[in-house]
Amino acid sequence: MTETGEGVQPVVAWAVAESLCQIAQTLAQRGWLPATSGNLSVTLGERGGPFAITRSGADKQRLQSSDLVVAGERGRLLTSAVPGQRPSAEANVHAGLYQRLACGAILHVHTVSNNLCSDLYFSAGAMTVTEHELLKALGHWEPQAVLNIPIVENWHDLEQLAEAVVLAAQPDVPGVLVRNHGIYVWGEDADTALKHLEAFEFLFSYHVMRRLLTVQGAGV
Ligand SMILES: [Zn+2]
Repeated sequence: MTETGEGVQPVVAWAVAESLCQIAQTLAQRGWLPATSGNLSVTLGERGGPFAITRSGADKQRLQSSDLVVAGERGRLLTSAVPGQRPSAEANVHAGLYQRLACGAILHVHTVSNNLCSDLYFSAGAMTVTEHELLKALGHWEPQAVLNIPIVENWHDLEQLAEAVVLAAQPDVPGVLVRNHGIYVWGEDADTALKHLEAFEFLFSYHVMRRLLTVQGAGV
C-alpha cells in the first residue's frame, strides 16, 4: 500500500494508511458508509495537530492510501497525494473534536439505525441508554450505568455543524449523533474508535428492533 496502481505516492505513513483503509473496508462491507458517505481520520503525531482524513468523494470500499489527505486547523488541506484532492467536507468537525478532546481517531458513519435513533430522540437532546452490557465497551462499567448520547441538529452550514458537535461532545461519552445524518465517534486510537462505534451501532440496532417488537405487541 505504499504506492497505488497509478504510482501515486501517499502522504501518510504506511501503518496509518493501512489501519484506516482496513477499517474503511470493514465499515463499508457492513453498509455503514453508503454512497461514498462518511469520513475517517487519525491524528499524526501531536494531539490537536495535523491529521490524516479520507478525501472528499472517496469510495470507502476501495479506499487506498492515496485517498488520504492531511488536514490541519479548521479542516483545511495541508497535503494531498494528487493535485485537486480535498479533505472530506466535514473535516472541520474532525478538527474541532481533535481540539476539544484528547482523542487520536474519529469515525463518522451513516446507518439506518443511528439515523432512526437520532430522529426519535432529537427533541430530548439525547438518547438515553441504561443497563446494557455493551455500555462497558464505551467505558461504563458501573452498575446501573446511564449513558446520554447527545444529538445535534443537522446544520447544512458545516461551520455551524462543527460548532454544535464540538459543543455537545462529552469526554465520558465517545460519540455525538447528528439528526437524520449519522454519528461521530472517537477513541484514543483507530482500534478504540472502532470498538466504540461497534458498541454504539449495536445499541442503536437493538433499540430499533426492540421498539418494533413493542409496536407489534411482542411484549418485550
Ligand atoms: Zn456525514
